[in-house]
Amino acid sequence: MAALEAFSKRLIEEVQKWGCMKQTGVSLRYMMEFGSKPTQRNLLISAQFLHKELPIRIARRAIELDSLPYGLSLKPAVLKVRDWYMDSFRDLRSFPEIKDANDEKDFTQMIKAIKVRHNNVVPMMALGVQQLKKQLSPTRTPSQDLHEIHQFLDRFYMSRIGIRMLIGQHVELHNPNPPPNCVGYIHTRMSPVEVARHASEDARCICLREYGSAPDINIYGDPDFTFPYVPTHLHLMVFELVKNSLRAVQERFLDSDKVPPPIRIIVADGDEDVTIKVSDEGGGIPRSGLPKIFTYLYSTAKNPLDEHADLGTADTVVTMAGYGYGLPISRLYARYFGGDLQIISMEGYGTDAYLHLSRLGDSQEPLP
Ligand code: ATP
Ligand code: MG
Repeated sequence: MAALEAFSKRLIEEVQKWGCMKQTGVSLRYMMEFGSKPTQRNLLISAQFLHKELPIRIARRAIELDSLPYGLSLKPAVLKVRDWYMDSFRDLRSFPEIKDANDEKDFTQMIKAIKVRHNNVVPMMALGVQQLKKQLSPTRTPSQDLHEIHQFLDRFYMSRIGIRMLIGQHVELHNPNPPPNCVGYIHTRMSPVEVARHASEDARCICLREYGSAPDINIYGDPDFTFPYVPTHLHLMVFELVKNSLRAVQERFLDSDKVPPPIRIIVADGDEDVTIKVSDEGGGIPRSGLPKIFTYLYSTAKNPLDEHADLGTADTVVTMAGYGYGLPISRLYARYFGGDLQIISMEGYGTDAYLHLSRLGDSQEPLP
């Protein structure tokens, strides 16, 4: 572990040891059932589980962060992310056994702080990858290696979604007045139409800000239909898809005197899946570009990191497009609870995005 010299040998050995231990996945249904009875006893069990599980998951990421191809591990932004993982591992491992309600309270505060520490991991990693991308020549870099980086990022971000879900869920269970029908992050009666409406409005606001106008968005589906899911996850996914559609339509009709055609969102409730389709007439994506749209290194927009790159904060500046992260990250959120995301394009006409959400909630977290 070349880059880990800054840490004590003992800590590094401990990371290695924990990184080899088996991770334990949890399903949406389990989180919901367990969390619906947030008794002191259950909170204690949950804290004890996290005390063991989080260091395993975090150690794996710390090890991987240290062995990336092309010296990506040594990029300052990546080193910073690695330090956050090491610090969190150390915090968790130095916390003594959780025996009573008081320990549980302290532990909860500690993992809450860990979640905050990791808030900016995505833009910070994006910055590191960006720094690498600049120095790599696309013609001379074997696509196998780019593939390896892409696979790593998929595992890394998927793991992050899981860790944040587990911490957030545990912390939320302490809320003495949870909103109706909410179990932690899970809404037991979430209306996908309503979440889609909010997410579309948010995306439209950004479009208005950036272009001065925005196409209409029509949503079709029963607003009273509900199922258990995590509204923040769905919001994020629809927001990203709608942003992409708005941008495509907006750019295509920029110089036209025609009224831009509305974006259509259709929500279907099947037995197995709830599917949300986002359709636009923004001209589609050329077939040659399709294999690239789910990679972290591909965007047809100007990269905002170039202008705002500041290692100290790397705060996300919300723009219409630019990081090339919208689709791959959305697909990870969909897959996290057993769903998926597909993009079908008709070049010269438009794009359909199919977001499948698994209704059953039985699938175990993917554990990279
Ligand atoms: P951001 O990280 O801000 O989302 P981005 O929009 O460029 O940046 P993705 O959302 O992952 O990244 O999309 C990748 C690329 O796929 C886009 O740059 C665009 O070229 C293409 N794309 C995605 N959705 C559409 C769409 N609905 N119509 C046309 N092109 C699209
Ligand atoms: Mg996007």
